[in-house]
Amino acid sequence: MNELSIDEVLAEVAVLVKPHFGKGRVPDYIPQLATVPGTKFGMAVRTVDGGEHAIGDADEGFSVQSITKVLSLGLALNRIGDEVWTRVGKEPSGTPFNHLSLLEAEGGFPRNPFINAGALAVTDILLDKVKDPAALVRGFAGFLADGPVAIDEAVAASELDNAWQNRAIANLMRGKGTVRHDPEAVVAAYSRQCALTMSCRQLARAFLPLAAGGFSPLVQETIFPERLTRRLNALLLTCGIYDSVGSFAYRVGLPAKSGVGGGVVAVVPGKATVAVWSPELDRFGTSVVGARALEAFSQLTNCSVL
Ligand code: GLU
Repeated sequence: MNELSIDEVLAEVAVLVKPHFGKGRVPDYIPQLATVPGTKFGMAVRTVDGGEHAIGDADEGFSVQSITKVLSLGLALNRIGDEVWTRVGKEPSGTPFNHLSLLEAEGGFPRNPFINAGALAVTDILLDKVKDPAALVRGFAGFLADGPVAIDEAVAASELDNAWQNRAIANLMRGKGTVRHDPEAVVAAYSRQCALTMSCRQLARAFLPLAAGGFSPLVQETIFPERLTRRLNALLLTCGIYDSVGSFAYRVGLPAKSGVGGGVVAVVPGKATVAVWSPELDRFGTSVVGARALEAFSQLTNCSVL
């Protein structure tokens, strides 16, 4: 990192993102998410040596949505190991996160765990082990963030009431045998998991093991084996930002995961995690201001891994 302090970098990023408000749209396909003001902006950095830095709405909870897919995958890999990869692939999809076309062409085998089909497969795997995967993910998030994390029941219900596309995905996979439980139960568990509410500060804390070789300096426990940590970061770099992952890697150069609640969390291996939130999304489902903020952060600190 260069001579600017992290607090100075965050202050500069907050100025640089200003012209980018109004360029994206708050999503309305989950109606409850459309109630969040598009002007929100928060950012938090947690360093592996214990530093914490925040700006703007960094302590306000928001719907972390697809960011939870990283936590559910980590839980599944910790529980059943490489068998996960018999149920879901590791390749970028090149299609929108909720599409069925590739899935149908490829026999119901999802391209990766971060598109909806892959995350539904991971939920199905967790249902083999526990009754309530959303509660498991919530507990894991709270443990990693070192503080309570809630499920927003209104967001969960709003998603489930409108989850026709995800029902289609789960039913297609049930037909192909790549989902084994009742598709309705899988979609319900997945929707509740996506409805976790976390702040940028909590997200930066929860993802810290991915920056610290699998160890959480915060809770002082090994969360993932070191090799698995590298592999999770590889998946984030190649599949974490849906079908705009190439341009995100080009601009930001960090493993990251976005969610349609407007959150993006990025990993600077060996150094820090950076979480940003701003609700207006680009057409791929990633926060416009969030991606711009991470691009500026990466440039100002010269922390790209590429
Ligand atoms: N729950 C959302 C969905 O299934 C997650 C999508 C996202 O955050 O990218 O549509």
